[in-house]
Amino acid sequence: MERTLSIIKPDGVGKGLIGEVVSRFEKSDIRIIAMKMLWMTKKQAQGFYAVHAERPFFDSLTDFMSSGPIVVMALEGEDVIAKNRKLMGATNFEDAEEGTIRRDFATDIEKNIVHGSDAPETAAFEIGYFFNSFEIIGA
Ligand code: GDP
Repeated sequence: MERTLSIIKPDGVGKGLIGEVVSRFEKSDIRIIAMKMLWMTKKQAQGFYAVHAERPFFDSLTDFMSSGPIVVMALEGEDVIAKNRKLMGATNFEDAEEGTIRRDFATDIEKNIVHGSDAPETAAFEIGYFFNSFEIIGA
């Protein structure tokens, strides 16, 4: 069993895609073990994306991620990190496979609807960034 963090980004929430994304997880046998809606400050977004601090798009990305409400979820399942990333599609929606969330709904390399952890270590950090143990079912 593996865990990962998913975020429906401000553009995904703004476009009314919370139900759509959640439904794709449920149909893929991915179990949601924690979930909440919140609005990050710029500082909280900078902390979340600290690994990208040196990237040229860091300021724009953290502005975007603090521009509106997001939905954060901890997901559990077999191979769920890879499974979620497959459902999401490539970072750039133009490169994403047909039928993926980003291909279906994203319009921009930055405003790409969803986030998903890319490795077990980042998943542990990212889940801990948003949830304490009382908020995670089965923790
Ligand atoms: P992910 O794991 O597929 O989300 O991609 P990365 O970890 O490489 O990048 C994190 C996030 O930064 C992406 O989801 C995008 O929102 C944003 N991003 C990535 N590359 C670019 C870029 O070249 N330009 C801009 N403006 N944003 C980017």
